[in-house]
Amino acid sequence: MKNLKNALLLKQLYQLKQLGYKYTSVSAYQETEPDLTLPNNLHALEKQAKECHLCTLSKGRQKVVFGEGNPNAKLMFVGDTPSSSDDSTGNIFTGRSGEMLSKMLENVLKLSRSDVYITNILKCKSLAHQPLAPSHAHTCHPYLLKEISLVKPDIIITLGDTAYHYLTGDTTDMSQVRGIVQEKEDYTIIPTYHPSYLLRNPSAKKVVLEDLLKIKALI
Ligand code: SF4
Repeated sequence: MKNLKNALLLKQLYQLKQLGYKYTSVSAYQETEPDLTLPNNLHALEKQAKECHLCTLSKGRQKVVFGEGNPNAKLMFVGDTPSSSDDSTGNIFTGRSGEMLSKMLENVLKLSRSDVYITNILKCKSLAHQPLAPSHAHTCHPYLLKEISLVKPDIIITLGDTAYHYLTGDTTDMSQVRGIVQEKEDYTIIPTYHPSYLLRNPSAKKVVLEDLLKIKALI
């Protein structure tokens, strides 16, 4: 798969950059390289991600945290990186943020977590007290793209600035884009705040409720 090959090439470039190279003549992958296509079913994709060492986050993780939920979900939620409790349990959106997300689903959308699909930009916990690194996001991106192509959601709800930025490439502040319905080729994107932001800023619950009601009207 071209995306995975590009991710491997990017990883190689980042490593060379860390060694001090400014320019490189890294050769492109040849047709003789082993087959790097990602599997065409979620179970096999999860297995491959759980054995992944493509970026340095593999060294610090306890567990790979792959997406969970309905493999045919119409709604997909995309967060940024596994939390510490996700990292230790191997399950996505555990802890207080996970409880908040479950409440958003149950109280407003009248759905359970098993009705939707929930995933993250990164499958391994990001470095403590550091923002998600572009090199890690780009290296992990093929897994997310493959999840999207297999689940085929109608609507993707990005949770927080980081998830929105790395899925769309748009760096507009969440306060400007939240709740705006964006039609893409294969799905609709609706950005909103991350549940952890709501825990820190309870006043934002009002606008997130507006976003959820907009989503409810679309499903
Ligand atoms: S974050 Fe993604 S690319 Fe990096 S090791 Fe984990 S699964 Fe692999």
